[in-house]
Formats: sequence, structure tokens, C-alpha cells
Amino acid sequence: MEVDAPGEHPGDTPDDDSPKEACGVFGVYAPGHAVAQLTYLGLYALQHRGQESAGMAVSDGDTITVVKDMGLVSHVFDNRTLAPLQGHLAVGHVRYSTTGASTWGNAQPIYRETGDAGFVLGHNGNLTNTAALVESAGILPGTVSSDSDAVAELIQQAMIAAEPGARSDGRDLERALLEVLPRLEGAFSLVLMDDSHVVGVRDPNGFRPLCLGRLDNGWVLSSETTGLDIVGAHFVRELDPGEVVVIDATGTRSLRPFDASQIDPKLCLFEFVYFARPDSRLYGQTVHTARQRMGESLAEQAPLLPDPTGQDREAMVMPVPESGIPAAEGYARRSGIPFGQGLVRNRYINRTFIAPGQDQRTQKVRMKFNPIRENIVGKRLVVIDDSIVRGTSTRAVVAMLREAGAAEIHLRISSPPYRWPCFFGMDTGTRGELIAANLTVPEIRDYLGCDTLAYLDLDRLVTATGVASRGFCTACLTGNYPVPVPLRRVDDEELPSVDLVHPSG
Ligand code: AMP
Repeated sequence: MEVDAPGEHPGDTPDDDSPKEACGVFGVYAPGHAVAQLTYLGLYALQHRGQESAGMAVSDGDTITVVKDMGLVSHVFDNRTLAPLQGHLAVGHVRYSTTGASTWGNAQPIYRETGDAGFVLGHNGNLTNTAALVESAGILPGTVSSDSDAVAELIQQAMIAAEPGARSDGRDLERALLEVLPRLEGAFSLVLMDDSHVVGVRDPNGFRPLCLGRLDNGWVLSSETTGLDIVGAHFVRELDPGEVVVIDATGTRSLRPFDASQIDPKLCLFEFVYFARPDSRLYGQTVHTARQRMGESLAEQAPLLPDPTGQDREAMVMPVPESGIPAAEGYARRSGIPFGQGLVRNRYINRTFIAPGQDQRTQKVRMKFNPIRENIVGKRLVVIDDSIVRGTSTRAVVAMLREAGAAEIHLRISSPPYRWPCFFGMDTGTRGELIAANLTVPEIRDYLGCDTLAYLDLDRLVTATGVASRGFCTACLTGNYPVPVPLRRVDDEELPSVDLVHPSG
């Protein structure tokens, strides 16, 4: 098992200074459809949730074939790889870069053999009790390489132990899940498949999204509704927290393997702020519209004050593209200050090679953004972004705008200070790396080099989602972890820590 020492992130590169997103999962059961092609499309629409590796497993009711590799969906699959993937059920996965090993072995779906048959698993989230699970199941060191791998191992053990040597009645996977799932803690939106069932699982807190869609002759599971749209599936509903949906030739069935006392909806609030695609719907709300409302609320809470010079210099609301665009639209609308573009983002930026010895942060931001000088020079800029995590890229953006001739830079962030690490599917590094965990807002303003800085209040953010009555995980903003996160003492401070196993999904 890979073990990461606290505070050490061997995978960190200069290009790794932002936290990474949760993974994306997709599943389809659709006789008569080209399921590999549908899965390819679904993963394509979920690519923003993970760019490290992509994979899919397809079954024709008899055998399961898995194809996975490092890289983007479009790198891993082409017509040649998709053509032989014939069948009527499939699951797929896109994985983010973690601080851990970026290896083929960690790509998903994970396949496990179980005598008669096999099954595959794709995981979005992060378990918080991996080490305890591994220990209690007597899994030997080195057998599993991640939390997702541990879940696959437990399911495999349960399937093999159930009826050794007996012929399968086709429900082995389902029975194993009923046994294993209640033992898992943390975040897990899963897709699984054996040779005749596709299964979707959402943990009792529903930390990560997962929805169900309908095709004319089949069913689709997807992390986000964009995965349904792209294959022409109609949105049916989000899976309930704690729900297992089994899809097979007879249709869909729901199982509820968790104790009612465990069910406590806590969708990640950051999905609304940053993770989810703007055209996705969460809790019935379009994310783009919610982000616009965040910007409107920010304009009410933290308006641009009149020009201190009395000269009434021109002001402009501009986003940090792409993530700041909807909130900037909302801010401009509510404040009446014109919306404009001050930065162009290079669309082709992904993981980039940066020559050692250069000013790496600045270099990275220069590769990502270029200022539109004519639009910036002499203006009082209200610069909108959704979040500041480590502060490194924001600082470089502020410097770039100054250099381009901005008269003033007023930074407005459409979420509260990001102060606590996420243990439920996002890799944010340690508290020491989160700027707001270590500096006050005025100190952050000075570090970033802007004239003013304001963050949207939590209650305003929750209201802006349009579903304030629903449950949210706000741990990264408040430190209130909805499920216990073991504490460890570091320098006399109690810090949350989880099993030091790399998150894999
Ligand atoms: P920084 O100034 O380095 O903290 O970077 C802030 C930028 O990171 C903002 O533009 C955010 O939209 C972006 N961001 C927030 N969360 C993530 C994430 N999980 N992965 C990548 N970028 C993120």
C-alpha cells in the first residue's frame, strides 16, 4: 500500500499547486446500443472530473473486457480501441491526478476475478477508514494500492466466501455489496458491473453526485447530468444518499443497505462552487445559474466602493476564466458595472512541462493566461474567481493584471476562505498549503497584492445554490466534517488526518 507521510507530497510538481478534482464515473445498460461508444461520450462529458487516466469495461453478457490507460479520454480511446468492445453493458471512469503514484495500476475500472465470473468497479470519492478495513479483513500488505482497490478486494472476498464452488444465481455481486457497503466510511459514488448487471452506489452522505438516466432501451448512470445529455438520455433522478441501484434485463431495482441512522445528505458544496460542470444540475439546480447567483450575492455583500481619487475612473467586472465567468456575470448584473474580459485562457493547457530553474509559478500562469491590455489599462478592475486554495496562481494573476496597467484590482471570491483539507474525494494537500488556513483575509490581500479582497459569506453561498434546505458538506470551509475524521496532533494543534492511503477516486 502506498503511504503518504503528512505534509509530504512526492507527486507535487510546480504544476500541481491546485487541488485536484474528484473522479467521474459512468455506467450504461442498453441492449441494442453501442455501449462502448456511449461510455466514451459519457466520459468525455465528465473529463473535467479527472484527467490522469480513463478506462471502461464492457460486457456482452458473457465476458468482461477492460481497456484503460493513462491520459485523457481522447488519448486512451479511438475507433480502433472501441470497435472490439461489443456488448450491452459498460462502466467507465476518469481519474484525477493525485499526490500518489500516477500509474496504470491505479487507473480504473478495477477488475477482479471471482471464479465463475468477475466484476469491475469505478470509484469517485475517498474512503476515510481504508486502513481499518484492510486490517480487519486481514488483507496482506502490498495487496491493495488504494481505497478503491480495498473496496474491490473486500467485494471479491465476500463473493468468493459466499458459496465456494457453488454455481452463481447471478446475484453474487449484489449480495457481496449488501455485506461490504455498510462497512465503508467516507465518500463513495461507485459504478460496478458483472457480466449481466450494472450497479450504482451512493454513500449515505451522498458526498459526490451520481444520477440515473433513461435511454429508449436502457439506463445510464453518470456522476453528472452532462454525462446523460451527451448520450441523449433523459434525466430520471439523482440516486438517494445510501441508495444502491441495480440495473439488469428486468429494469432497475433499489436497495438500501445502510442503516437509516447513517443517512444524512451532505453533497459537497464545492461541487456547486467549482467542481461540477456549469451545465450540470445538482439537487435540481443548474450549476451555472447558481454560480451567477453567487456573483449577485457577492455584489451585494462586497460592492466596489466609489473611486477614492474622485475621478470616477472606468470600472470593469472581469472573471478569472473559466471558473469565474458565471459569478462575474452575476456580479456585473447586480452591480451595474460593465462585464468585460481581461484575460484569455489558453484552451490547450493541461499538465505542462516546466523547465527547471525558471520562475515556475509565473511561467505556469503565463502559459495559462494572457492579458488583454487594452481592456485593462487604467481601469478599476473587479476580478472574480470562485476560490483561492493555495493562492499561488491567484497571486500571479494579480501581478499579471498590474503589469498590464490595471489602476486598481479588487478581488472578489464567490466562496468563503478555503481553510480545511477535504477527505471526501478531493486532494487539497495539507492545511499548511491552504493559504486561508494560515493567513487572515487582510494578510491574504497583501500576499496576493490586490487593493481589496472579499469572500462570499457561507450563508450567502448556500442560499445562492437555490437549495438551502438540502444538506451540504462544508468541511473545507468550516472544518465541520460530517463523518468522523481521525485527529492527529501536530505542533500542539489538532488536525484532521485520515488513513494515509492515497485517495484514488
Ligand atoms: P490558487 O490561487 O493557486 O489557489 O488557485 C486558485 C484557482 O484554483 C481558482 O481559479 C480556482 O478556480 C481553482 N481551483 C479551485 N479548486 C480547484 C481544484 N480542485 N482543482 C484545480 N483548480 C481549482
